[in-house]
Amino acid sequence: MSLPSATAPQAALPPAPRASADSRPSLVGMPRAALADFLRGLGLPEKEIRMRVAQLWHWIYVRGAGEFDAMTNVAKHLRATLASASTLARPEIVREQVSADGTRKWVLRMPSKGPLDRGAEVECVYIPERDRGTLCVSSQVGCTLNCSFCHTGTQKLVRNLDAAEIVAQIVVARDRLGDYPGRLPPEGAFVPDDGGRFVSNIVFMGMGEPLYNAENVHAATGVLTDPEGLQLSKRRITVSTSGIVPEIGPLGAATGTMLAISLHATHDPLRDELVPINRKYPIAELLQACRDYPGLSNARRITFEYVMLKGVNDSLAEARALVKLLRGIPAKINLIPFNPWPGTRYECSDWSQIERFSEVIFDAGYASPIRTPRGRDILAACGQLKSETEKLRARARLMLEEQLALGAD
Ligand code: SAH
Ligand code: SF4
Repeated sequence: MSLPSATAPQAALPPAPRASADSRPSLVGMPRAALADFLRGLGLPEKEIRMRVAQLWHWIYVRGAGEFDAMTNVAKHLRATLASASTLARPEIVREQVSADGTRKWVLRMPSKGPLDRGAEVECVYIPERDRGTLCVSSQVGCTLNCSFCHTGTQKLVRNLDAAEIVAQIVVARDRLGDYPGRLPPEGAFVPDDGGRFVSNIVFMGMGEPLYNAENVHAATGVLTDPEGLQLSKRRITVSTSGIVPEIGPLGAATGTMLAISLHATHDPLRDELVPINRKYPIAELLQACRDYPGLSNARRITFEYVMLKGVNDSLAEARALVKLLRGIPAKINLIPFNPWPGTRYECSDWSQIERFSEVIFDAGYASPIRTPRGRDILAACGQLKSETEKLRARARLMLEEQLALGAD
């Protein structure tokens, strides 16, 4: 994921409780069944459990409560019991960066899970656009997959995030954006002009391979889409995978979310090098899993991500091969300018080449938006191509509007 690093003054918001070395569990992000079990453990009568879960979820997700005392329709003695046995702690915000274009990045520290876990840190990015606010979340600390162009793959420490740690990223973002009724957004924040939610879309495109942590990603998605909780549409949640073929069908069946595939190459020898998991699950098997993805239709297309690497995968012959390869699959192609990092052997393709590549795809009838790098410093990293970016962004917008008119989301 391209991450911005420009900074601006932090906005003043009411402080949210932070996770600490507390042994009490936080109820924030806890899946419904686990919360029900927790309440049973406190001795609540079975007939009350469903109602109490709904009440707690309302306060946590709809109202953004940071303390049990705010839960005015929960009896005082129950609030006291809850407060002695649990917390509403969020992960600690280690760093918050705000780019001039409104993109926000948080580095979050998850509470330690034991003596060997030194407080895992993950990144989470908020990208506001005119018609949506997208939050890019992490599913793992680091990644085991070592794609040769990806910085995350070089990180040594790796562990899965549990479902609550995934959901908590959304809660922190909403806390910081003031995305609750009656709260004021921070100064300079994007405010949806239709009165909609600040965080309307979720993409699993932060750190980690979501389908190597499928169980927790399924459970987290359940919390995100629950009609009594965060109430996000499953069509506004996209899970991006490097191609863990056996987990693709089960993801669609269990969650109904949108799928993105990090393709990046049109033939196996190159993909083996760029995305080494390809040696296990080659392109033909991956594309078959895509054709079989539950619920696939022209209105629910798969996004194919293609990182633009200069002289590696960016020839026009490859653009034509890409079109051919995806024939028959309801698809969108998302071109990602490579975001360089210290020590990488790759360079971002020249902007004119990205544009030509995009045109081949566009002419073949595909929407081929170029993922515009968000945040000032990222633009600088990819070659300071602001004016071209603006033009391309306008074109991407046009294509998107066409898609929306067709009923795609
Ligand atoms: N592991 C998952 C999701 C996280 S990566 C996956 O690989 O799909 C999210 C996206 O960012 C992927 O498409 C990934 O290939 C891309 N990416 C990784 N490093 C990048 C870089 N340095 N520049 C541009 N895109 C990158
Ligand atoms: Fe990076 Fe995704 Fe590859 Fe992991 S699977 S190394 S996060 S691109």
